[in-house]
Amino acid sequence: MRNHKLLFTITLSYFLLGFVNIHFALLGIFCMTIPFFLVFKTKKKTWCQGYCPRAALYTTTLKHKGWNSLNTPNYFVHGEMRWVMLTYFAVSLFFITMTTIAVAKGVRAPMNYLRFFVVYPIPFSMPQLIQFSKVTPWITHLAYRFYSMMMTTTILGFTLGLIYRPRTWCTICPVGTMSDSLLKKKRR
Ligand code: SF4
Repeated sequence: MRNHKLLFTITLSYFLLGFVNIHFALLGIFCMTIPFFLVFKTKKKTWCQGYCPRAALYTTTLKHKGWNSLNTPNYFVHGEMRWVMLTYFAVSLFFITMTTIAVAKGVRAPMNYLRFFVVYPIPFSMPQLIQFSKVTPWITHLAYRFYSMMMTTTILGFTLGLIYRPRTWCTICPVGTMSDSLLKKKRR
């Protein structure tokens, strides 16, 4: 990866912006769509190879961690875990979409807090330095859900990077898995 020196600050800024106002979390949608746009445009994993702020964070913060990494388990490298993560990702997105629709229809209250792994509430109220007064509740709900998903996967990836190699997350990252599948289909 061409690890642009300051690329990792985008990931840090993303999480810090959530404390300024949670609605900035919706910027994460760009991180989820640009990789696929680049796959279609360049016919390779351009995002993963040079522009992913999350991978840059792991590389930058964990490359000098000071202890030996364990070998990455085979089930990470050769598939099974990739599909587990992809399933988790699909279930999360489904859950996010359905609950957001329910909030928009007024049949459930918006979620104004973070959750770990979709279901575990985090007992911590995020300070909001700036308040946007006229945002509809479903957008706020979507923003908290999005931030929660990004936070969960980033912590998971960071933990894997501490135990194994810094970019172990990339072996099971749903965006990477879907990019690989798209490329395979295109080549066929
Ligand atoms: S596999 Fe995922 S985390 Fe790794 S570089 Fe690609 S998008 Fe980023």
